[in-house]
Amino acid sequence: MTTTAREFHLAARPEGTPGPEHFRLVETQLADPGPGQLLVRNEVLSVDPYMRGRMNDVKSYVPPFQLDAPLDGGAVGTVVASGEESIPVGAHVLHAAGWRDYALIDAKHATVVDTALAPATAYLNALGMIGLTAWGGLLIAAEFKAGDTVFVSGAAGAVGSLAGQIARLKGAARVVGSAGGEAKAKALVERFGYDAAIDYRAGDLRGQLAAAAPDGIDVYFDNVGGEHLEAALGAARRHGRIALCGAIAQYNATSPTPGPRNLALAIGKRLTLRGFIVSDYFGRNKEFVEEMASWLAQGRVVALETVVHGLERTPEAFISLFSGANTGKLVVTVDPA
Ligand code: NDP
Repeated sequence: MTTTAREFHLAARPEGTPGPEHFRLVETQLADPGPGQLLVRNEVLSVDPYMRGRMNDVKSYVPPFQLDAPLDGGAVGTVVASGEESIPVGAHVLHAAGWRDYALIDAKHATVVDTALAPATAYLNALGMIGLTAWGGLLIAAEFKAGDTVFVSGAAGAVGSLAGQIARLKGAARVVGSAGGEAKAKALVERFGYDAAIDYRAGDLRGQLAAAAPDGIDVYFDNVGGEHLEAALGAARRHGRIALCGAIAQYNATSPTPGPRNLALAIGKRLTLRGFIVSDYFGRNKEFVEEMASWLAQGRVVALETVVHGLERTPEAFISLFSGANTGKLVVTVDPA
């Protein structure tokens, strides 16, 4: 027997901002699972900014997507047929074969998750890769300490909204966030507990940061790069630390973007700039999950989601990351609303 599946393929490599023409929905037939395999019906799919980098044919820390081959990414689904004794039909699994409704995967690449403890989307958000990025980036890469003043860009997004809350829970003196638009700036303070918010679309980022953190910043959690990184270098105090998590402002650039014009400030200020990839912290995942699960259970962390319904809308959802359509984690449900 076979199962008819629908999966998105990369139809063309985007130059600049991706559009619907770069994606193709393809029907395919999946065989029954062999020994050690699982057939999974996906329920929720993750779309993430890093996927944009994988659409370019360049060497990076993850291999590029191949043309006319399925895209992949985080997903949670239900096992509908199993060739692996330890993972029965009905189990929910987190795995990497997203962008499709049904997936035939190796059981060794699947993690069983308990959707009675937390909704499926939590494993793509606060309890998963996103939460670990925020936690490890702040506490390990930026070497956060209680009493620090922290600045977070992309602060209303998935990683940023958690990084700001973790800083608050760990005793930051002041937490300042930057996001695009008035509504998001308001959400930073009202939903995520930031002390001050910057709407970078309103202009004068440096001036807004100086007003929000008049004594400067100790830590900058960089999700954006570009002008935000320059503003943070300007505002950094001596021995400040910058965690380079992402640079979404330049992911769609068609030519190499210049580095921060004021990088030399890092010398006199004795700054540390540290890039990291979430996988650097996989060894600390257990510790992270325990801490995050307890914060969530106590209602001390708010993990918001923006949900797009319907597999067909996955490319649209992905593209919308670059116009800031989401507050919190952007996820796609395979079923239409
Ligand atoms: P988000 O949920 O933050 O979504 C992306 C957000 O980026 C948008 O909502 C938008 O918010 C903002 N944005 C888009 N374009 C621009 C721009 N030109 N300038 C400023 N802001 C922009 O995504 P994630 O939380 O998943 O990822 C955040 C960052 O972290 C990304 O750079 C990502 O690549 C990186 N990352 C890095 C990891 C690592 O291992 N190092 C792991 C996971 C993520 P707004 O409306 O505020 O503009």
